Amino acid sequence: MEQEKEKSTGRLLEEKLLWKFPHIGKKAPGQVEEAADFCEGYKAFLDAGKTERECVAEAVRMLEAAGYRPLDLSASYQPGDKVYQVNRNKSVLATTFGKEPLDKGLRINGAHIDSPRLDLKPAPLYEKNDIAYFKTHYYGGIRKYQWGTVPLALHGVAIRKDGELVKLCIGEEAGDPVFCVTDLLPHLAAKQNERKLAEGLKGEELNIVIGSLPFTDEEIKEPVKLLAMKILHERYGITEADFYRAEIEMVPAQKAVDVGLDRSLIGAYGQDDRVCAYTALMAEIETRNPRYTTVTVLTDKEEIGSEGNTGMNSAYLCHYMEDLAELTGVRVRDVFRNSLCLSSDVNAAYDPTFADVFEANNSSYINKGCVLTKYTGARGKSGANDASAETMARVIAAMDDDGVYWQAGELGAVDQGGGGTIAKYVAQLDIDVVDLGVPILSMHAPFELASKLDVYNTYKAFRAFYKV
Ligand code: MN
Ligand code: MN
Repeated sequence: MEQEKEKSTGRLLEEKLLWKFPHIGKKAPGQVEEAADFCEGYKAFLDAGKTERECVAEAVRMLEAAGYRPLDLSASYQPGDKVYQVNRNKSVLATTFGKEPLDKGLRINGAHIDSPRLDLKPAPLYEKNDIAYFKTHYYGGIRKYQWGTVPLALHGVAIRKDGELVKLCIGEEAGDPVFCVTDLLPHLAAKQNERKLAEGLKGEELNIVIGSLPFTDEEIKEPVKLLAMKILHERYGITEADFYRAEIEMVPAQKAVDVGLDRSLIGAYGQDDRVCAYTALMAEIETRNPRYTTVTVLTDKEEIGSEGNTGMNSAYLCHYMEDLAELTGVRVRDVFRNSLCLSSDVNAAYDPTFADVFEANNSSYINKGCVLTKYTGARGKSGANDASAETMARVIAAMDDDGVYWQAGELGAVDQGGGGTIAKYVAQLDIDVVDLGVPILSMHAPFELASKLDVYNTYKAFRAFYKV
């Protein structure tokens, strides 16, 4: 047997004074299987919810199954009681009442369930040279060239003139057709190749092929468009005028899959930020008798700046907490100023292929756990929440006490770009908040990558957070 070498003085001092985040697979190989098991549920969640509405429906199903009931403003609640509230079918809040009165503060965890995609325009349907198309307007920050020649599924709702809401979904069931945006063949792309990458495909080129056969009638001027509409009418009872009362989203048809020979990664659309939504929801559901009352919020519209009344820049979260405060007879501003919130969102994982946009010492890495992001923003932290040392200390203590693998990282090197999260909208309510989430490779692409160990440790972090 090889004798372990005695550690030198320098080595001992190094261990005592310096710090590096470990690779979980090296430090805790036992977690590999636990993480893989946990992520089976996550993959199913990703496949069940490819739009914010579908995520809300799936979350409500899970909450109901776990004993949550709609918040009743005439009821009185005891510690351990579980309630939820849905905001306009696009965001959802869930609470487990704690032992402490609410003015001792809440434990809030917010993640977003909208993801970048191609939305249909209000008048989407047209025909050109005997091909029927949908016109789109992209939603969120996409790299447009990535969305050509990718199989897309159609998801959404339309409200018919009779007032009935129809749910549309084509491209997910086995045997369903899919749709796609075309791109040029290399043989004819010499001129397109000279475009800047940002314009590889332009916004008005993100047109989706939906059909190519005509409705056979000599008198019809646009027979291919008519046949496409006829098929949609047969399936959903909708007409072209109903597109004005619709929200239809084209998303990658690809299901969540394992990536890598070792199956260590998950490849899927919409992991930003459904990875935090799922882990937050699971932590909420499994929190039984917390000390402080929890508020788990799965929100919409983060990808376009948290706008609209289903986004975090609206008052709906505030109103929900006001309702909770009134129910229990405390002042809501005391609730706010004593609360602690995780703004749970993904960060960019260090990508060795594109190393120059990262600063290696301050990046997050796959397989090193959930990433605590003190600030986001751009150009000197503009637009950032910039969590305080005190807030960082409380969240780090919660994770350390529970043996959670976590790391810290910025969103890229200084002045390489930047971004924002919901953190600043929570902070403006006078609540302590910091960003925490999963490092992602190829973020915002139709197929994003996350590490199973990181997903699992993010869930563990959220569980730990609800304990303190
Ligand atoms: Mn996000
Ligand atoms: Mn995003």
